Amino acid sequence: MKLGATWAKAWIRNSAGVMSEHRIELIDLDREIGDGDHGENMDRGFQAVLAKLDAVPAEARPGDVLKMVATTLISTVGGAAGPLYGTAFLKAAISIADETDLDGAALVTLLTAARDGIVLRGKAESGDKTMVDAWTPAVDAAGAAHAAGADDLAILRAAADAAEAGALATEPLVARKGRASYLGERAIGHRDPGAQSSALLLRAAADTAAE
Ligand code: ADP
Ligand code: MG
Ligand code: MG
Repeated sequence: MKLGATWAKAWIRNSAGVMSEHRIELIDLDREIGDGDHGENMDRGFQAVLAKLDAVPAEARPGDVLKMVATTLISTVGGAAGPLYGTAFLKAAISIADETDLDGAALVTLLTAARDGIVLRGKAESGDKTMVDAWTPAVDAAGAAHAAGADDLAILRAAADAAEAGALATEPLVARKGRASYLGERAIGHRDPGAQSSALLLRAAADTAAE
């Protein structure tokens, strides 16, 4: 489908479904190296977003949808993930301003702004075993795909593939940010829950574009 407000709303609706489907998986990951609430946090936040989606006016632009997601996640998701994802969606919304249908360049801009928002808020670097380890490979892969002439769907698929690989690659790492950093070497062997939820979000973006 075209990447307009209809896509943005469908992406967010699908993400809410994915977060509730993967709630237990994310809880289990966070139980290993955190406090076990990441699946709960994401599911609660996206259910709140879902409840507000139908009230988004018909003439809304993708940025309006993402802005509503940002403010809702910030106000309903506690812990680290709420402000991080909230900032990501807010910066993404601002980056695409009042565009109505996103092209490949706008997608790369949106993904880059989201990642930069997470870094601005959380100050994590690549390899710190956080959600940044899913987002940065996704941004790089999307940029490379766009530069190689890929279409919107291929750009989103490249981002999702890279985010999944990035989430997997957090397993051998020691954490340097967030709760998992208190564990030292005991975090080795466990996937970062926020990197995993980020990969799920980006896969939902690609799957929605394929509808
Ligand atoms: P909390 O740790 O407060 O319980 P969540 O469990 O919802 O919050 O989210 C944990 C996730 O947040 C981690 O798996 C990690 O991906 C992400 N995270 C934590 N701190 C940071 C940070 N400083 N920068 C980027 N991501 C972070
Ligand atoms: Mg937690
Ligand atoms: Mg918590």
